[in-house]
Amino acid sequence: MSVLLIFIDGVGIGTRGPHNPLDGLGSEFFSVFQGEKPRLPFGGRMAITDARLGVEGLPQSATGQTAILTGVNASKLIGRHLHGYPSPRLKQALAEHSIYKKILSRNRSVTFANAYTRSYLDSRPRFLSATTVAAQSAGLRLRTLEDLVEGQAVSHDFTNEFLIERGFEVERREPEQSGAYLARLAARHGFTLYEHFITDRIGHERDRDLSRRLIREHIPRLARFVRAVLEAADLSRQTVVITSDHGNIEDATTRSHTLNPVATLAFGPASEFISSRVQSLTDITPTIVDALSPGSG
Ligand SMILES: [Zn+2]
Repeated sequence: MSVLLIFIDGVGIGTRGPHNPLDGLGSEFFSVFQGEKPRLPFGGRMAITDARLGVEGLPQSATGQTAILTGVNASKLIGRHLHGYPSPRLKQALAEHSIYKKILSRNRSVTFANAYTRSYLDSRPRFLSATTVAAQSAGLRLRTLEDLVEGQAVSHDFTNEFLIERGFEVERREPEQSGAYLARLAARHGFTLYEHFITDRIGHERDRDLSRRLIREHIPRLARFVRAVLEAADLSRQTVVITSDHGNIEDATTRSHTLNPVATLAFGPASEFISSRVQSLTDITPTIVDALSPGSG
């Protein structure tokens, strides 16, 4: 059994109504609302997941992602929710307790599926995402555009448009192509992480009408990608988990994050195990680690 974790930034479970751009979309994975049991394809199950971490204020990315990737309550650790990129204290937690390290210590292979450009890696950026810190501190090789061209990595936007706009010589990919590449890459590793953060970016868009339009254009594309992953995966052996760090796009009345829970969706052999155990962001790492351990899941 292997696990693929697809982390999608800034998607919460909102209430229905005109304030929610996901209402009326009829998305098989993302039109999920409070008080309703979603009918998920591929036998999927949902765990309603608290993103607030027991700390006052709106949940934020650096602490939420650190909690997802370590099981450590990152907001309690530093006494607040931290937006953007992890602080030194959070980097230390990611280095010591990441899901990669825990699974590697059980002799299973791990990988981060996202593609990085050589120029980004060479620039030694000062601000690194929680996912990058976790991968680097566990000694993982970051995948590059050469890997992407060979179908051995996926760009964060999964169509490569972001790269093409910046002049990189890669082909445009359909969501279906990238989804299939991701599923095949994940089949060759015990644990694979893929990160998608455009959702949170478009939720923060200043122009509310534009934000709503971008969300309603983007979510069906993202759903095509997820469907392709699930179609290409062998769901008798591969578990696919989808989660988020906090709400954002499900409430168009605000540019900020929300206090809403997030949906942790699980498909494949460990779907029941995972959906029955995950209640908070801090449950995701220990639950996946246990699902991958012999004798469980
Ligand atoms: Zn976030």
